[in-house]
Amino acid sequence: MPVSPLCSPVVAQLEPYVPGEQPRIAGLVKLNTNENPYPPSPRAVAAIEAAARDGLQLYPDPQSLALRQALAAHHGLEAGQVFVGNGSDEVLAHAFFAFFQHAGEPLLMPDITYSFYRVYCGLWGIASELQPLDAGLAIDVDALAARAAAGPCAGIALANPNAPTGMGLPAARIEALLAACPRRVVLVDEAYVDFGGESAVGLVARHPNLLVVHTLSKSRSLAGLRVGAAFGQRPLVDALERVKDSFNSYPLDRLAQAGARAAVEDAAYFDETRRAVVRSREDLALALRGLGFEVLPSQANFLFVRHPGHDGAWLAAQLRERAVLVRRFARPERIAQYLRISVGTPAQCAALVRALTAVLAR
Ligand SMILES: *Cc1c(COP(=O)(O)O)cnc(C)c1O
Repeated sequence: MPVSPLCSPVVAQLEPYVPGEQPRIAGLVKLNTNENPYPPSPRAVAAIEAAARDGLQLYPDPQSLALRQALAAHHGLEAGQVFVGNGSDEVLAHAFFAFFQHAGEPLLMPDITYSFYRVYCGLWGIASELQPLDAGLAIDVDALAARAAAGPCAGIALANPNAPTGMGLPAARIEALLAACPRRVVLVDEAYVDFGGESAVGLVARHPNLLVVHTLSKSRSLAGLRVGAAFGQRPLVDALERVKDSFNSYPLDRLAQAGARAAVEDAAYFDETRRAVVRSREDLALALRGLGFEVLPSQANFLFVRHPGHDGAWLAAQLRERAVLVRRFARPERIAQYLRISVGTPAQCAALVRALTAVLAR
């Protein structure tokens, strides 16, 4: 649909992110948006119910202090080093606004990564410079560091583990980027780190230019609640607060603050469910290799796979006919043959393998 002439001219220039579909098909095996296959902690649900009964006529705490304290305790930080927002997508939007607008200097990022980063660049008018992944589809840290050291840039943004490859970098490699880019922020989006990646949160104390972004959507099973966080030294968090309070004083409602806090405090449930996902991931990787798929090594709750004998789009369409939904990215060309498959419950994974077995036997 054409953009209405009633709009501000900039609206026509936007290139919005397209999220994975959320269809309502009975019996669908939904492995396309990296949601957690397990429900959230029962303690989180109880806290949300209690919050719903108590005080919804009042505004929530604009600082989300109790939640920030819980996150700080979990990560060995102070509450002043924690920022929270309405999903990590909002946290990322504020961070791009706060740290990466530097008069035309380009933001450095991998060519294949979370595609929302480029959307924020478009939204805020930030130039970007893409660094190709290496031949094994890993982030080329040496090339990024060399580019950052060679001349002006607005900063570096990457996902670790990366999306949609699932491949992770050790924290020591993040440190190399921090050292190469001391005058700008290095943003590390750790949406999937709890499934086996190595977090850079421990580097916050030593690196004033590090911002680590987390979400409760994946490893805490709270995609529907919309809570994300950022960790960094106080001046960075203060900057994010300034942006937030210029946009929305109350991004997290009472239910979100209460539920997220209870989820963060339920360490036992967190460990149980993320271990179950990691176990299923390893079992699924084995099964897919058995079917002839190439499977990238994943530290996330999804697998990035391709079959040497079958077209990616065809495979995704065949699976859809069998009520199994996976994600495929038509661009860039280099990853067009891959399927990104979220790790489900053992039963969902088995249904996927059954469907693929039938498709490949045709
Ligand atoms: C899912 C995802 C997000 C968004 O998480 P929300 O908190 O649900 O907004 C951010 N970054 C990456 C890399 C993701 O995969």
